Amino acid sequence: MPQSDAPDLLLRVGLSGGIGSGKSTVSQTLADRGAVVIDADLLAREVVEPGTPGLAAIAQRFGDDILTPEGALDRAALGRVVFGDPAARTDLEGITHPLIAERTRELIAAAPAHSIVVHDVPLLVEVGYAPRYHLVIIVGASRETRLRRLTDLRGMTGAEAEQRIDAQATDVQRRAVADVWLDNEGTVDELRAATERLYAERLVPFLTHLVQGLGVPTHEVPGPEEMVRLEARLGYVLGEDLDGALELDPGTDSLLVPLAPGVPADAMRERLARAGFPAVGEGRHASADPGRPVVLTLREHTVGGDG
Ligand code: ADP
Repeated sequence: MPQSDAPDLLLRVGLSGGIGSGKSTVSQTLADRGAVVIDADLLAREVVEPGTPGLAAIAQRFGDDILTPEGALDRAALGRVVFGDPAARTDLEGITHPLIAERTRELIAAAPAHSIVVHDVPLLVEVGYAPRYHLVIIVGASRETRLRRLTDLRGMTGAEAEQRIDAQATDVQRRAVADVWLDNEGTVDELRAATERLYAERLVPFLTHLVQGLGVPTHEVPGPEEMVRLEARLGYVLGEDLDGALELDPGTDSLLVPLAPGVPADAMRERLARAGFPAVGEGRHASADPGRPVVLTLREHTVGGDG
């Protein structure tokens, strides 16, 4: 995806967590601080409101039985149609996903320059979106805690709550993509305070560095889990210009990034800067995220043996 799509720099944050984890508190707190929150669930409802092309397309594909007498989407009826019918589900998603993506792009484009844009996506892990963001925040709580909240506070039966939880990604999968894990086993106030600290101590400095093009040089090297996240993120950002696996270089305390044949390091400069790794020297980039210190050394492909 061309990075030059975005005329102004934004800090793009992905927010997710299992159902009942407390994601709403985090997105609300970030919005209160001034972040632009884009709520994927809300958009999913908007694109099928009465009178929308989305609802018309669904009625055309699935028949008027999925409409209420008032002409709104009958979610339960549609649910019965697509439940256990993968082809029907694929058709439905083929209608809704592009509409949601289009609205998301519009909202991102409308965000003021230098905003912190938080994309609240319940199924972020399931759809593999993590590498698209500068930073991924996951709100976490144990299965027992989430079951209790869903039954006590959100009116679900125990069986319903279990079914919803089991249909989602596991905590192991969520932890793998989490740049930040916000634990929500305590009180709502504690979660709010942790979110405010994250905003002030990491998101704002990250945005500032991004806008100023400042990488933070370091001698720290990423641990194994961080390496996996960096691989995924740089794979997304560089696409086929990346040629092979990242390697730690103990000599320079940096991560070697092998470029494909014919790709000069200089050509990656702007793309990496926008992705959160501004240049700090010839072929060297450093993370703008104060919470993820890493230096990248771009390695141009040289043809061995021909001098
Ligand atoms: P999610 O958006 O992640 O599905 P919610 O933010 O709606 O979850 O939280 C689920 C329920 O648990 C809500 O009713 C919310 O008010 C409540 N809740 C969230 N965090 C806490 C907490 N720390 N202590 C008690 N209740 C909480």
